[in-house]
Amino acid sequence: MEDNAIQQLNDSEFNSAVGAWRDGELLVVRNGATLPKPCPKCNAEAIESPIKLKIVRPQGEGFIGAAVADAIDQYKGSTYVGPIHVRVFFCPRHRRLRRVLLIICLACIVLGAGGAAVCLLIDPKDGLSGAVFFPVVVALGGFAGILATLNGENPWFKPKRFNQEYVWLKGACVKYLNNLPRFIR
Ligand SMILES: [Zn+2]
Repeated sequence: MEDNAIQQLNDSEFNSAVGAWRDGELLVVRNGATLPKPCPKCNAEAIESPIKLKIVRPQGEGFIGAAVADAIDQYKGSTYVGPIHVRVFFCPRHRRLRRVLLIICLACIVLGAGGAAVCLLIDPKDGLSGAVFFPVVVALGGFAGILATLNGENPWFKPKRFNQEYVWLKGACVKYLNNLPRFIR
């Protein structure tokens, strides 16, 4: 069955120079592709130098998480073989998105840690009747955001399905998708 899957993917329909297709509302990308301009998020003019994205399958921690993710893939008839690397040109606004979010995460960590410190300084025993937990949660949220980014999560696209060297992404706008060739299974 695995051989069949590979054969299918080597069909001439897939040999687009660009490595990007539309499949309904999803954007299909081949590993190593550079997406064509304009900005896939809003179809506005993109600026120079693409951003490199590493798209990983979302999965739970450890062996169980990976096993569950594998089972879901098998059910969908997909095979995950590793992260998909893609280069994307964005408009200035969307290009800034990840940096802006990371700055917000950092601000949450700083403000949260500072707020917790203040609570504990004022009331070392109870942290102002447990109010110390609110800034702690804010700080942890910021930390989780940065960790997710380091793990390969990105704020532009959500992977919906992987198959070999292809990934199906949600998050591109319809106008952009309409300019791409249709992905043929
Ligand atoms: Zn844009």
